[in-house]
Amino acid sequence: MVDKSYEAIVIGAGPGGYPAGIRLGQLGVKTLVVDKEYYGGVCLNWGCIPSKALIAAANTYQDLAKLETMGIRVEGASIDVGKLQDWKDGIVQKLTSGVKGLIKANKADSVIGTAKIVAKNRVEITLPDGKKELVEASKGIVVATGARVIQIPGMEIDGQTIISAREAVSLREAKGTMVVVGGGVIGMELGMVYQKLGMQVIVVELLPQILNGVDTDMVKVVQKAFEKTGGKVHVEHKVEKIERHPGGGAKVTIASKDGKTFAVDADKVLMAIGFKPNSEGLGLAEVGVKLDPRGHLVVNERLETSVPGIYAIGDVIGAPYLAHKATKEGEVVAEVIAGHKAAVDWRAMPSAIFTEPEIATVGLSETAAKEAGRAVKMAVRHTDGFVKTIVDAKTHEVLGVGIVGPEASDLISEASLAIEMCAFAEDVHLTVHPHPTLGEAVMESFKHALGEAIHVLNK
Ligand code: FAD
Repeated sequence: MVDKSYEAIVIGAGPGGYPAGIRLGQLGVKTLVVDKEYYGGVCLNWGCIPSKALIAAANTYQDLAKLETMGIRVEGASIDVGKLQDWKDGIVQKLTSGVKGLIKANKADSVIGTAKIVAKNRVEITLPDGKKELVEASKGIVVATGARVIQIPGMEIDGQTIISAREAVSLREAKGTMVVVGGGVIGMELGMVYQKLGMQVIVVELLPQILNGVDTDMVKVVQKAFEKTGGKVHVEHKVEKIERHPGGGAKVTIASKDGKTFAVDADKVLMAIGFKPNSEGLGLAEVGVKLDPRGHLVVNERLETSVPGIYAIGDVIGAPYLAHKATKEGEVVAEVIAGHKAAVDWRAMPSAIFTEPEIATVGLSETAAKEAGRAVKMAVRHTDGFVKTIVDAKTHEVLGVGIVGPEASDLISEASLAIEMCAFAEDVHLTVHPHPTLGEAVMESFKHALGEAIHVLNK
């Protein structure tokens, strides 16, 4: 006997699940959103939002030193990391409670409980008091359960000395040394925060460069800026051993590719080697949902899994692990369940890295365009950072843009729109951009790709 009947059930209230629930509600589909822990998922609780709040504060603190050159003197500046965390917690609290309200305002229901699929159209929910409810979904079930931190056996997260991003966004002190294991996006963003707040940060990366997957010329700008603030980077190195000290902290043994080792005394070790999908314990195998070798749910462009009526969105279906990708998929899956013709198009999915300076990309990178054998024209305009424009050599169709520099995460939206609209380089080149703005660098880069730049030499 089912306890409740809905048309759609969304499992997970992260940036994938809650927009799906909201949009389903807007479309008149009777929907229940269920989350086992909190509203807003990783992004709002210990991911995007708290990390960006800390990044903004750390940048402001560091920029105080630069004010002197403008003639502004700030004397005796200091930072109270505990108070900074209280401010950040306030932002998180406001946003997460807002999510619950938005779901309700859009006429969808929500509940805290752990969900398990027990049949193709049924979900069992274990409520916080242990009671179980059987809920039916006549039109579709959406799996939006996200991903979790990967741990290295023997170096498990203890929450005190060996920490993940979850604890790193809530440290109430920034003293001593932090070893960051993994120089990916999260390792570099949080590493830069704590370097600016006063720690000595050492990044250990197994691969030949940090921020793997991003064009090397863009990465170099960020690494240089990090090292300028005193941060250290060891590429082609790995953390071999972590020996915890009884009173806190640890001895971290780091080995180079050729086997040479050295040890560092660390107060905190931030494990940032990646994420894996939350696809276990959901009853997926029992109903026949197909997974890829890494455990992601396999979906088509309508976000439907191998089982009709079971859909999946967000981190649980694979990279890029980004909140706005999850949200877009949430909106699309709602349209699909409501019976509309809809499909996702991942071509114009931007990506932003909130290091200093920021990196933002959309479409094909230079490396990917070359690997795909595309004949492309490229323009790179250098200032403090640069804009890199990749256009088809013959048609001038915009294929990709990469920006490294201040406000890159905002500037990239123009390039995303260009790719989404199948625009040509001329479209951006001929669009007048107000002066003096950073947006002009994007316009100039497209002019440069066409050999018509005004402020840089055309080659
Ligand atoms: P999640 O946010 O993981 O949400 C999944 C939800 O499902 C969770 O709330 C979980 O409790 C729930 N759940 C899991 N299993 C069950 C179950 N059985 N029953 C009920 N509920 C369940 N992305 C960006 O785009 N920009 C950024 O700047 C950015 N910064 C980040 C910084 C950090 C430090 C981290 C860790 C991540 C960051 N990300 C960023 C990534 C972003 O947080 C994720 O891509 C995003 O949260 C994925 O959304 P999701 O809805 O797929 O999953």
